[in-house]
Amino acid sequence: MTTLQFQENPTPTTQRPPRHHWNMVVDIDRCTSCRACVIACEAENNIPINTEDRFTQQRVNQWIRIERYWEGEFPNVKARYIPMLCQHCDNAPCEPVCPVYATYHNNEGLNVQVYNRCVGTRYCANACPYHARNFNYWEPVWPEDFRNYLNPDVTIRSRGIMEKCTFCVQRIRRATRGRQDVADGAFAPACVQACPSDALVFGDILDENSKVAKLSKNERHYMVREVLGTLPSITYLKKVEADAL
Ligand code: SF4
Repeated sequence: MTTLQFQENPTPTTQRPPRHHWNMVVDIDRCTSCRACVIACEAENNIPINTEDRFTQQRVNQWIRIERYWEGEFPNVKARYIPMLCQHCDNAPCEPVCPVYATYHNNEGLNVQVYNRCVGTRYCANACPYHARNFNYWEPVWPEDFRNYLNPDVTIRSRGIMEKCTFCVQRIRRATRGRQDVADGAFAPACVQACPSDALVFGDILDENSKVAKLSKNERHYMVREVLGTLPSITYLKKVEADAL
């Protein structure tokens, strides 16, 4: 006769020591605002095509956007560009305001969005100081020819829910599944892979020899709206002024 054996409950995910802490560095001095990262993100993550009327209604869906801003006083005004995406904050303001726990922090430093929990209150979007969350105002549609190009690893999100950058979690899972160590640079989110000027660098900041760990200590480093205490996982490197060299 077989005896039933009960196993102790596994340690909850949130109490396990983190194996990875995924971070990104964005070098503003290298970014040319070509927007290859935006298109790569849309293709990888099944983001519906943003038509002109969506832009004019300010209901565009982009997980990464290139923001333009101006620096200096007239006549010495300079146009600047900054890639802006979910900052995967360690102290994320979007997480405590969700009434149904549809967004939470995992033990790899990712701010996770659970689509089938989301009830569309948009509290999280209001709480996000980076405007990095997108609400699905429409049921996604693609031209028939495009349907064969959709990424089978990524869910199609329906109308009425919130979505945002996942650091291409499907790529992270594929690269790390069943492995203790992943070599630095062995994989990257779509935006990082597509950037022609290597302005974006992705990696595990717990690995002190990783490129991302070293760059995040660069003397040009800063975090966007650091004063809010959100502890972003994205470090920016400020632009080098040609006349300051
Ligand atoms: S692909 Fe690279 S250079 Fe082009 S906009 Fe994105 S971050 Fe900037």
